[in-house]
Amino acid sequence: MKIIDLRSDTVTVPSEEMRAAMARAKVGDDVYGEDSTVNELEQVAADLLGKEATLFVASGTMANQIALLVHTERGNEVIVDAESHIYYYEVGAAAMLGGVQLKPLEGLLSSEGPEVLRKAFRPPDIHFPITRLVCLENTFNRGGGTVISPAISKAIYDLAKERELTVHLDGARIFNAALALGCDVRDFTRFCDSVMFSLSKGLGAPVGSLLAGSQQFIKKARRYRKALGGGWRQAGVLAAAGLVALKNIPHLAEDHTNARYLAEGLAEIPGLQVDLSKVETNIVVAKVVGRWTAAEFAKELARQGVKCNAWGPDTVRFVTHKDVSREDIETVLSIVKKILSL
Ligand SMILES: *Cc1c(COP(=O)(O)O)cnc(C)c1O
Repeated sequence: MKIIDLRSDTVTVPSEEMRAAMARAKVGDDVYGEDSTVNELEQVAADLLGKEATLFVASGTMANQIALLVHTERGNEVIVDAESHIYYYEVGAAAMLGGVQLKPLEGLLSSEGPEVLRKAFRPPDIHFPITRLVCLENTFNRGGGTVISPAISKAIYDLAKERELTVHLDGARIFNAALALGCDVRDFTRFCDSVMFSLSKGLGAPVGSLLAGSQQFIKKARRYRKALGGGWRQAGVLAAAGLVALKNIPHLAEDHTNARYLAEGLAEIPGLQVDLSKVETNIVVAKVVGRWTAAEFAKELARQGVKCNAWGPDTVRFVTHKDVSREDIETVLSIVKKILSL
């Protein structure tokens, strides 16, 4: 049985072209700054994002946590969305590593975001923590892969700057956001002080994220990466995969088309509800109504060769990526139909 894995875009495997590039990569010791392939990737990524410098790190979580460490001191408050990756999925690392307090806001990553942020500001007071940082996320994973528009990003950024706050953008899927709106990725990155994106999701690399910001920010970030055990040596074999991954950016559009096709198909099946207005990129969240719980439904799908994530008690998440085709999506739809007609 062929398995169609829609749990995440992290399940993509390196292409032959990527493996070949990894095999012939020029390498050196990156802790000495001597890996030319890493240096090339960091330069290319900085130009793409319109930032002074970038740092190649092991994961998106590492990139976000390094950003928090650079931007804050112990006891500071960091404003995040209540459904953000940094709050929801990073093992409590902000408290564990940085000793900062996260302030989760509902609706920060929505069209109401600027208003939500404005209301959260507190005047200086001996009782209150010092707020230092606001984190955005684009696309917004738990929002269903939704895009935070440049206008909203700018409004939040401007508000933060009025308060002398720093803004970090968790842009794990920032290229999906840019493609969805047909704009340049810099239309988002200009409204943040630091940004990270993942090479290991829809772009198809086996490992890696890039953290970007000013020269001074990256200099500090490099020290924290080392402190976290993330200093690596001949990492050019991984950077070579990253350089090939960047060529996949335009192909993310196919993932979006497949997600839309899947969402429209699922929305027609009795037993499922899909908010099509929220399907903007490569993520589809479906509500399971009727006698199945999300977990039971996901389990039955898996038994029939389709993997997805039970996302909440009554929701499942499907993520399209380069290793699933239109034909695979058709198979998924017919399997879902069969299960829900049981
Ligand atoms: C996946 C993801 C991360 C973390 O990346 P890892 O490489 O899995 O650590 C951070 N933010 C968002 C929005 C993500 O989707």
